Formats: sequence, structure tokens, C-alpha cells
Amino acid sequence: MHKVVVLGSRFGGSATAYWLHKLFARHELDVTIVDQWPMMTYRPAMVMAAAGHPQIADQWHINMAKKYEQAGFHFIRDTIFKIDPASQQVILTGHPPLAYDTLFVATGSDPGWATIEGLGPQRSGVCEDYLARNTGYAVHNPIHHIVIGIGCLHQSPYDPIQLQASLDVPGFEVGFLLDAWLSQHNRRKGTSITVLTPAGVPGESLGSISQEFLLKELKRRDIHLITHAQYERVTREAIVLKNQVTLEADRMIWVPPYPGSQLLRLSGLDDGYGWMPTDEYCRHERWPNIYAVGDVNRSALPKLGHIAMLQARTAVHAFWAERKHKTSRPYHPYILHVLWLGNGRGIFTLSDTLYGGKRQWVNVGRMAAASKSVFNWSYRIFAGWMPIMP
Ligand SMILES: Cc1cc2nc3c(=O)[nH]c(=O)nc-3n(C[C@H](O)[C@H](O)[C@H](O)COP(=O)(O)OP(=O)(O)OC[C@H]3O[C@@H](n4cnc5c(N)ncnc54)[C@H](O)[C@@H]3O)c2cc1C
Repeated sequence: MHKVVVLGSRFGGSATAYWLHKLFARHELDVTIVDQWPMMTYRPAMVMAAAGHPQIADQWHINMAKKYEQAGFHFIRDTIFKIDPASQQVILTGHPPLAYDTLFVATGSDPGWATIEGLGPQRSGVCEDYLARNTGYAVHNPIHHIVIGIGCLHQSPYDPIQLQASLDVPGFEVGFLLDAWLSQHNRRKGTSITVLTPAGVPGESLGSISQEFLLKELKRRDIHLITHAQYERVTREAIVLKNQVTLEADRMIWVPPYPGSQLLRLSGLDDGYGWMPTDEYCRHERWPNIYAVGDVNRSALPKLGHIAMLQARTAVHAFWAERKHKTSRPYHPYILHVLWLGNGRGIFTLSDTLYGGKRQWVNVGRMAAASKSVFNWSYRIFAGWMPIMP
């Protein structure tokens, strides 16, 4: 049987497994998924946990391993050390080498804590459950200055699309949610909120309509914005920028820099910047039996779960087409994103302007916020394998 290995089991890996299950009969493939965690931390819910609701962090662990086993796939819980493309093996730390005929890599980016002097997970964050939980508890204490730091995206300068921020939307989302939560607790007046982004605008990938709305909304709600932020160093109480501006912070919340993947670097599979270079079918430029899905892929811009799901669809359809002597459609990205604004409101964006298109559909209000809640809950109920997949 053709051996398929999927590395990573969050948005990208889970959607890859879904399409393998959907497009192939059970006897055609021997599928193994590897991740260090059998339970997926559902990151979009972590913004709510960080904004004063720490208990939420433990409610958004989704049992992916169970889903795979039900589908007849194997799941290995282990840490992946290296991929050897020449011998077609994945080197794991606690299991024998895992052979593959076709490999899907969906291991995301490493958090770049070490890329800024003094920065580390002890400075607090939102991207993983433990970080969001700690932040969610910490904001219950009196605070004067909350600073939300968004890290840089370390990408190749040769990429046709250039973004400055690792991922800015959750940073702004936490800012809006905290503003609403502190107001509800009559604490907003004594607490300033500042968002730092390396980009020139908030919502850098969303398109001009959403960006203008976000600018106005930040102003209306007295959330300070510093764009083009370049970080010099971070201390326990402050963030120092390269232009010598120092921002005092008795509570920082970081979306760390994204420096790509050490696993890819070690395996000689990256583009020199830690990302997998692929063609328009998400297939490695040099190794045609290796696909990259989601954040780890050079072309996954911005680094969003929705983009990871689109790439999983593209990659597995390309693999299917190759096996069945058919054709499939290349990766055709668009942004579909909802940012919660607090108080039951949200901003929904459907846009392709980042990729040279003209489409921008933006809706602000309760329906937008509700659509994100519905998506999140159905993702949880169906463990990522939803009746309608992007
Ligand atoms: C706070 C926050 C909120 C977000 N909100 C949204 C949102 O509202 N909408 C949206 O579309 N996107 C959102 N995103 C982005 C989204 O979460 C990511 O784009 C998405 O998780 C990327 O999925 P992935 O599968 O490519 O990689 P990842 O999510 O990074 O998953 C990689 C997986 O690989 C595993 N792994 C990595 N290395 C190894 C190794 N060496 N050994 C074993 N296992 C390994 C990890 O354990 C992990 O399970 C948000 C991100 C954050 C941080």
C-alpha cells in the first residue's frame, strides 16, 4: 500500500487527513499522522481566553487522534526531529524512522522568542493554551499599561507577496476584547492599551476597507497604535524600539516573530528562510513527493488557519490527480477572516486584494461575530472535519 505520512495535526494536518479520507478508498493508502500533541489547541479561541477568560483555554482542546483512528488512520504521538528526503524517512525522537512514499508537512512556524533580545514566553502571549491561560489570569490584577507586541515575519525578500507582521489580526483582536472586558469591569479608564505592529496598517493582509475600519475603531476606543515597530529589546517592564522609544508595560501580550521552521532547516527542505518552497500545487520545488500545507509553506500568506485549509485541499487534490491520472486546480488564495471586536460585534472580511484581486466584502456587526462563533463550534464538534470544508 502507498504510505502517506502527515506531519502536524492542527489546521493544516487535520484538513490534509480529511481530504485523504474523502478522496481515497481505505485500501488505497496507509496513512499515519504525527504530532507531539494528540489534542489540538484551537488557537482562534485563545484570544478570548487571554482577554480575561482563562478557563476557556482548557475548553478548546480537540481530540484529533481519536478522529484519525475512527477513520482507519494511524496516529503517532512523538516529536519529529528531521526529514530525510533522499531515503524517504522521517526521524522521530521516540519511535523508529518512519518511511513514506508521499509526505505532507504541516508543522507550522516555530515561535521566534529568541529573535529579540530579552523576549521569551515569560513575557506572556496568546498563541498557545498555557500562554493565553496565564494572560487571562494576569489581567484580573490591577494593570496600568497593556502593550500587545506583534512580531515580524522573517520571510524571503524574493517572495512576490511581502508581509511585515508574523500575524497581526489576533493581536488586534485581543486588544479589542480586552478593551470591552475592562470596560465591563469599570477598569478601562485606568488602563492604557497599545498595539505595536511592524506593518504600516492594522489588518495588513485584509484589504483597505477593513484597514480603514480598524484604524477608526482603534481611535474610537482609545487603543493606541504604533506601526512600523522595530524591536530593539524587551525587559521585564518595557519594550524598547529601535528609534529609542521605550514603552512601559506592566502587562505584555506577544504574538511572537515567525522565523520559519527549524525542522525544515535541519532537513535541508527550506528556502533559506525556514519556509518550504513549493509550486502552485503546494508540492516541494525539488522533491515532488513532499507537499507543504499551512504556515510552514512559503506561499501561505498570511499565516491563517483558513489558508492552511485551502492549501490542504490543493495539495491532496494534486496528489489524488497524480495517482488517478487526472488534473486538479492550483492554489488560489483568498482571505476569509473574522476578527472579534468585543461586545458581541465582529468584522468579517472576504478579500483577495493581497493577491492582486479587486474583491473586498466587509461586514461589521453581530452577524460577523456570530459567524466566527459558529465556525469555531462546528470545528470543535466535527474535530476539524466539517460538513463544508473551505
Ligand atoms: C492567537 C491566534 C489566533 C488565531 N486566530 C485565527 C483565526 O481567527 N482565523 C484563522 O484563520 N487563523 C487564525 N490563527 C492562525 C492559525 O491558528 C494558524 O494559521 C494555523 O494554526 C496554522 O496551522 P498549521 O497546521 O499550518 O500549523 P500549526 O497550527 O502551527 O500546527 C503545527 C502542528 O505541528 C506540530 N509540530 C510542529 N513541530 C513539530 C515537531 N517537531 N514534532 C511534532 N509535532 C510538531 C505542532 O504540535 C502543531 O500541532 C490564529 C493564530 C493565533 C496564534
